[in-house]
Amino acid sequence: MQTITILGATGSIGCSTLDVIARHPDKYRVFAVTGNTQLERLMSQAKACSARYVVVADENHYVRAQELASAMNVPAQILCGAQALDHVASAPEVDAVMAAIVGAAGLLPTLAAVKAGKRVMLANKEALVMSGALFMDAARQCNATILPIDSEHNAIFQCLPADFKYGSLEQSGISSILLTGSGGPFRERPLESFADISVEEACCHPNWSMGRKITVDSATMMNKGLEFIEACWLFGTSADQVKVVIHPQSTIHSMVQYVDGSVIAQMGNPDMRTPIAYGLAYPERVDAGVEALDFMTVGSLTFDQPCHDRYPNLQLAIDACRDGQAATTRLNAANEVAVAAFLNKEIAFTDIARVNSETLNQLEPITVSTLQQILEQDTLARDKASALIRGLR
Ligand code: NAD
Ligand code: MG
Repeated sequence: MQTITILGATGSIGCSTLDVIARHPDKYRVFAVTGNTQLERLMSQAKACSARYVVVADENHYVRAQELASAMNVPAQILCGAQALDHVASAPEVDAVMAAIVGAAGLLPTLAAVKAGKRVMLANKEALVMSGALFMDAARQCNATILPIDSEHNAIFQCLPADFKYGSLEQSGISSILLTGSGGPFRERPLESFADISVEEACCHPNWSMGRKITVDSATMMNKGLEFIEACWLFGTSADQVKVVIHPQSTIHSMVQYVDGSVIAQMGNPDMRTPIAYGLAYPERVDAGVEALDFMTVGSLTFDQPCHDRYPNLQLAIDACRDGQAATTRLNAANEVAVAAFLNKEIAFTDIARVNSETLNQLEPITVSTLQQILEQDTLARDKASALIRGLR
């Protein structure tokens, strides 16, 4: 029996995680569920999975959460705030933590789980993009197991040799990691009309159903950029060893290319319950509730190279990856602010890349290594991006 905490239970990944867990009551028990604003959903989840704790991230919602818990007869203990998030991520009773908070807000509780040596199922890619070396070093020092949930990284993980040693691609006979991406909803849209892209259009992914921030990131391909950085950290590769391949059908979730000419790919229907079930059961396998891939109806699989005029954010992220930690932290922060402004209809779709690139241009290159320095760069870039957005309005 594994005891699990789900950070970000009310989101898309959180709901899928609870769905898989509910299929295996003999294998998994929920210690805590956490959420931010969707309190009704959070309380019904806590009730359905008999969680011991519910954590409401925002302390301003605590009173309302307690009222709801008693009205809905939720037996769990209700906690709130950042310390409570850290507590449920690191409590001794917990075996595994699903890190599924979106954005930089997930960094500290995810790090708390890492430092407590948990099995960490990492969906929250922004946490790793922000803190790369620090995160991976902490995992090594504290014996945490990091299992990638992002479908591409989960696919790569599945395609690596069993004796793969972190950072030694050459020794494992690997020539490159092929990171696939669908290209999002605007792969064929005329470039001249990009400035007119509406929030509704950007929030409609052709293959995957996800939270709004990652859906916009998929449309700009910043998501693939963040995943590029994530892959370098997760597998200890250089930026030259990762290649982005456009694969519009999202049937192959990524591939590993070997020096002998072999390419190993992981395939399946685009449903996050597959990588989630893999993370929960590793090294075993459990039913995820996902339909088997039917090769009689899959049709053709196609591949292409990414067009950098169409996806300027992708190149920004690859360049930031080469520049180092300060650049990736700043880019992630600027992008979160820019995407939020786009979702609020304050700026145009094309302004997202503009804000990201200007933020990076206007800040002096520096070296960061401590958590405090990383958090300072996050704040600095958020302030810079917000000022740029005010200038655009
Ligand atoms: P979502 O927006 O659906 O859910 C986000 C969750 O984070 C919610 O539970 C919300 O309450 C919580 N949250 C938001 N702001 C918070 C804050 N300030 N403090 C504490 N909690 C907060 O997002 P999602 O699509 O489930 O994505 C979650 C993470 O997983 C993201 O990092 C995303 O990149 C990654 N991911 C998602 C998918 C997917 O299919 N949805 C796939 C791969 C990776
Ligand atoms: Mg992904």
